[in-house]
Amino acid sequence: MAGLEGKTAIVTGASSGIGAAIARALAGAGARVAGGARRTDRLETDLKLELDVTDPASCERFVSQAVEELQGLHILVNNAGLGLGRDPFDASTEEDEETVLETNVHGLMRMTRLCLPHIRDGGHILNMGSIAGRQAYENAAVYVTSKFAVRGFSYALREDLLGRPIHVTTVDPGLVESNFSRVRFRGDEEKAKAVYANVEPLTPDDVAECVLFALTRPPHVNVDELVVKALAQSSPVRIVRGA
Ligand code: NAP
Repeated sequence: MAGLEGKTAIVTGASSGIGAAIARALAGAGARVAGGARRTDRLETDLKLELDVTDPASCERFVSQAVEELQGLHILVNNAGLGLGRDPFDASTEEDEETVLETNVHGLMRMTRLCLPHIRDGGHILNMGSIAGRQAYENAAVYVTSKFAVRGFSYALREDLLGRPIHVTTVDPGLVESNFSRVRFRGDEEKAKAVYANVEPLTPDDVAECVLFALTRPPHVNVDELVVKALAQSSPVRIVRGA
């Protein structure tokens, strides 16, 4: 699919899953993409740059390098994120809370703040939310909090940018098969696999297609929010599993 010829983009968390698929889709549509992640060896983007969104110095380095090499910026995709554990909140730890909130919320705000001065007229900021940011579910308080915050931030940013030629979109996917559950269950393959057992979840490419749709509308159109789920899922907890 074409539509982003001559455009430049940053995709955070481009080393895996949804971010990698978005980076591929953007490149396929003609954009030059700078991908950021801690595991640079997994990046397949035009520019492969080290990025830890929880580290202000890393973000500053990344943005200045990306903007210089891309020669300006049209699209920022704030995708880097994670959940840790599926436990009742009283089992939560200071460390996990900090990691999830720093990555999913502060990292996303930090990258937005640093990129905003470079975003060209007609540009776009796309934040990866989740259906967890629309409806709470049990044993996921920190992740749910982080994704509600992403949605709140996107609404607030849209208000602050109103009147300027910059689009803001949040994409809220349901269950997507990626490395997400492996990270969430700290490498426990069995628990990770169970999340996707007997159901056809979304693929990262399904989400990337939605992202591309939002990014390729005419200039006067802003897709504020996009919610996408597997057909077999109606809410974070209602999933119909086959035999
Ligand atoms: P994934 O396969 O685990 O990918 C997560 C990506 O985030 C990786 O590229 C990882 O790169 C990056 N990342 C994590 N911490 C980072 C940090 N501190 N600095 C920079 N990059 C960091 O999971 P995914 O499913 O694609 O998740 C992508 C986004 O989609 C997340 O925001 C997630 O909350 C959201 N989401 C996922 C689902 C789902 O069911 N999978 C549903 C709704 C929303 P490195 O480890 O190399 O740094």
